[in-house]
Amino acid sequence: MPSELTPMMKQYVKMKQLHPDCILFFRLGDFYEMFQEDAKLVSAELDLTLTTRDRNKPAEERTPMCGVPYHSADAYIARLIAKGYKIAICEQMEDPAAAKGLVDRDIIRIVTPGTVMNASMLEEGRNNFICAIYRDSAGTGLCVCDVSTGELSAAFFPAGAEGEERLYNELGRIGPREAMLSDGAYSDTALVDFLTRKLDCRCENGGEARFRADAARAAAEQQFTSGLEAVPQGAEGAIQAAGGLLSYLYETQKTDLSHITTLTWLAAGQYMELDLTARRNLELTETLRSKEKKGSLLWVLDKTRTPMGHRLIRAWMERPLLSPVAIGKRLGAVEELVGDPIRREELSATLREVTDLERLIGRIVYGTAGGRDLVSLAAGLGRLPRLRELLEGSASSLLSALCRALDDLPQLRELIASAIVDEPPFSVREGGFIRLGYDAEVDRLRSILTGGKDLVAGIEAREKEKTGIKSLKVGFNKVFGYYIEVSKSYYDQVPDTYIRKQTLTNCERFITQELKDLEHEILSAQDRVCALEFQLFCQVREQAAALVGAIQHSAAAAAQVDVLTSFANVAAENGYCRPQVDQSDCLEIVEGRHPVVEKVLKHSLFVPNDTHMDGGAHTVAIITGPNMAGKSTYMRQVALIVLMAQMGSFVPARSARVGVVDRVFTRIGASDDLSAGQSTFMVEMTEVAELLKNATSKSLLILDEIGRGTSTYDGMAIARAVLEYCADKKKLGAKTLFATHYHEITALEGAIPGVENYHIAAKKKGDDILFLRKIVRGGADQSYGIEVAKLAGVPGKVISRARQILAELEAGGLAAPAAPAVPVSDQVTLADMGGSEVTRRLQLVDLNTLTPIEAMNLLFELKQMV
Ligand code: ADP
Repeated sequence: MPSELTPMMKQYVKMKQLHPDCILFFRLGDFYEMFQEDAKLVSAELDLTLTTRDRNKPAEERTPMCGVPYHSADAYIARLIAKGYKIAICEQMEDPAAAKGLVDRDIIRIVTPGTVMNASMLEEGRNNFICAIYRDSAGTGLCVCDVSTGELSAAFFPAGAEGEERLYNELGRIGPREAMLSDGAYSDTALVDFLTRKLDCRCENGGEARFRADAARAAAEQQFTSGLEAVPQGAEGAIQAAGGLLSYLYETQKTDLSHITTLTWLAAGQYMELDLTARRNLELTETLRSKEKKGSLLWVLDKTRTPMGHRLIRAWMERPLLSPVAIGKRLGAVEELVGDPIRREELSATLREVTDLERLIGRIVYGTAGGRDLVSLAAGLGRLPRLRELLEGSASSLLSALCRALDDLPQLRELIASAIVDEPPFSVREGGFIRLGYDAEVDRLRSILTGGKDLVAGIEAREKEKTGIKSLKVGFNKVFGYYIEVSKSYYDQVPDTYIRKQTLTNCERFITQELKDLEHEILSAQDRVCALEFQLFCQVREQAAALVGAIQHSAAAAAQVDVLTSFANVAAENGYCRPQVDQSDCLEIVEGRHPVVEKVLKHSLFVPNDTHMDGGAHTVAIITGPNMAGKSTYMRQVALIVLMAQMGSFVPARSARVGVVDRVFTRIGASDDLSAGQSTFMVEMTEVAELLKNATSKSLLILDEIGRGTSTYDGMAIARAVLEYCADKKKLGAKTLFATHYHEITALEGAIPGVENYHIAAKKKGDDILFLRKIVRGGADQSYGIEVAKLAGVPGKVISRARQILAELEAGGLAAPAAPAVPVSDQVTLADMGGSEVTRRLQLVDLNTLTPIEAMNLLFELKQMV
């Protein structure tokens, strides 16, 4: 029934057709309204009342409608974005009061999960990434951008297993909120599944057209001032991804994106590869169970003071380096700061006052920054000279370079200081934020305003005097402007020159020519000063926006200073040491500790342990020991020390030498894939398959209880075969920590070169177990499973039965069948206490014929037997 639609609804339908995949927020006065299906959806999602327009029509013809107030729309948008929706904002493009007929409206921006700019929708210490993925027969191009900070990077992964692995690792590292895929990429269900299910990322088929090579290159050349030259031959797919992403951003953001200036090329071999499993198992940025930062490595290491530092330390943690030279530079900086506690303290205090320059300049370029943002930018830049002072004369080459890179842009700071008041109001449309003395015209208009108000007061006094009406007063409202109010009892004293405007119950309101003239002057001055202030503000904002490159450069340097200072503070506080990082195969840790467990346990209780591995005689360490002994803590600790060292951080150890590791793989415990219907064993084997396929002799493998999910012989066979493969120099020969419960595996020491047995010591103390937490050479002599079960609070009866079965098993040897299985329900019943005779007697009794006295006698007899 389009013919029946009102002109406004026609306008609505037209807008909606342009963006059928978005929820349309349609500005209507002080509200954003949603109609039809959008209204139903939003009212359900946000628990808002669903109303209707055109109440006079029959119910089935009414248009469902639901609205949110304009001034609080951000909160509603944020909630819809969090649920994965996209929102098209349709604004009134002219003042409805001034519009002739239908108000002109247009879509000014499309807000999507990966492109939000509003501070309230962004997590301060975390990047918000959107990516585009382009795929053809040559391989996959990836381009990733944080629109709020302007960072953008690209990579290319050649077709084949290795490229594919890197692509997944890179995506796992970035954790994009939104992905836009070409047809070729979107048809890969495994990829889409990984993005949506594992990374909780919104995926969209962006079509093929926006990825066309020639258009993509042209867009990239137009947008980036640097970085394109680093993209190697044969990696055109990355440019296509970049072009696709840019086209999507232009289409949705509809604004200046000049803060996205540089394409950072992510070359293969620059960073340690970490797959999503390892990242999660090692609890780098969040814990496995509760998905919280508390309890993760980031929780221990992140003592940064600025939002930029928070984001960067996360990025460094996600991307450990491979070059000993680059790592050495960071370590050198950390070492210098560790040795200078006073400087550290001052750096921390100064950094605390450095504002989020990256996101501020993002909003400035976008044109959404207000007066407060400019003041905040100037304040942040204003702390940089002090940072420079603190870094001047550093021996560390990295600190010196960062010191030089911290440009505080004094001219811009002065401009902002002279133009904007210290505490500007929130809105930029209502004036009051340009500083007195900055602009002569603003000052003149303001004096009219203040003077005008004095004049109004003057008129009131004079008219009172002239007419003798005591209750006469001059008032103002939006409809009539200024008026003179006279109460009923004085009507006869009103002079002829007064023009009647409004009659109220107890009074009348009048105007005079004089008052009208004054009103015109005041109101137009008010309008003019607001418009002029806004115009001046925009000029200042544009001048700041023009310096985007320099501001980003300074911001990046400040972020690095922040992370290095954080590393130094954490190192000093926790007694970490500087690791020696080189290209050797060596992994030597003396008195290493687990950075998180030691924090939780309080330092003094943690038992440090050594590690000695290399690619030769000490390739594989088989680690046995009772449950709860500390095997998995130890293995994770080794991996974390390696990761920290390659991040450029000091490590929790007395000393450490780390030959650069190219990848860390983990196979630990249950995985989150169980929810997807895969069995534990299947998940385990898939992970084993992945790591054996992708590991190299330079990798570090952490394998916990391989083969546990199947029958003993199967499991043991698999465990042994995997271990042989890892140890064999001709096959893999990768440094491997291998925890197992199969004591039989320990027989491999001596049989396979490079394999060594270790166990984590524990002692029996009476019937109890004492954990020593010390790793020592040799296999464990006992498994202490029963003692651990007792410690865990398994009932005493079960424990004693277990001991009995164990004794029988040990007496009969491993090959002998175990004692006849006793039904579980019998284990803690009378049979357990008095033997089978009690059971036999009970089975013979017919309870239906038993007299009370016979029952008493039987109970007596049974009691004798127990
Ligand atoms: P396993 O993997 O052998 O079952 P875990 O590594 O899970 O054992 O360790 C069990 C608990 O022992 C940990 O939660 C931790 O509190 C404690 N623990 C582990 N290693 C140490 C250590 N080196 N010093 C002190 N306590 C430790």
